[in-house]
Amino acid sequence: MNVYLLGYTGSMQRRGVSNTSLAIVAEGRTLLVDLSGSPVQALKEAEIDPATIVGVLLTHTHVDHIYALPSLLHQLWLGGRTEPLALIANGPTVAFAKRLIDLFDLERKKGFFPLIRHEIEEGDLEIGPLSLRLFPVIHGVPTSGLSVRHGGKHIVYLADTAYSRAWPSYIQGADILIHEVGGLSEEEETLAGKGHASARQAAQCALDVKAKRLILVHLPEDPKGDELLLKEAQALFPSTELPRLNIPY
Ligand SMILES: [Zn+2]
Ligand SMILES: [Zn+2]
Repeated sequence: MNVYLLGYTGSMQRRGVSNTSLAIVAEGRTLLVDLSGSPVQALKEAEIDPATIVGVLLTHTHVDHIYALPSLLHQLWLGGRTEPLALIANGPTVAFAKRLIDLFDLERKKGFFPLIRHEIEEGDLEIGPLSLRLFPVIHGVPTSGLSVRHGGKHIVYLADTAYSRAWPSYIQGADILIHEVGGLSEEEETLAGKGHASARQAAQCALDVKAKRLILVHLPEDPKGDELLLKEAQALFPSTELPRLNIPY
């Protein structure tokens, strides 16, 4: 199992980098996590065939995490897809996604492939070869964290969230923790109010859950601050990295 970052910014995109979204690939099958930018283009950049997608997981309804859903579905349909696609999210996000799909009347297109909706607030799901576990995190709207396991490897994605000491025990020991970061520790109060975390808090989380490796995502607009974020996180958790696009983690 490998995870690819198809984008890693927060709400404001950078030159050449779109909003945070992931592709998780195992045994030639792909799960997309959040949909922003141009997903099909991003998959091609990462040399992942869009035909290998088995499911789409959306963490929450904020625009930077969901807005490219219609474009992805439309292009899969144009590409001749017939096999069903899993759509996985918490209840409010599934309902919101349906509105987005209906806005473009996608499911009424001739021969449109079946969308299988999975509404999960907290629980397990097997998608292709991947074992998923969703759980609620702390954000302004209902938002899901994700634990993915395959063949002894364990990846955890904490999408937009404030810091918490109380994550479920099954995220312990993740090989890779992908954690959002909104700024430095001096901004923690403001960040927490918006349901986001500082670099220090992301590192503290990596320590709390005994992760082996931490990758910072959902970075602020200005790349000049990246090294400071990295430095702050590494002071607490040395195995912290800045994100890189389109490489297999
Ligand atoms: Zn976001
Ligand atoms: Zn958000």
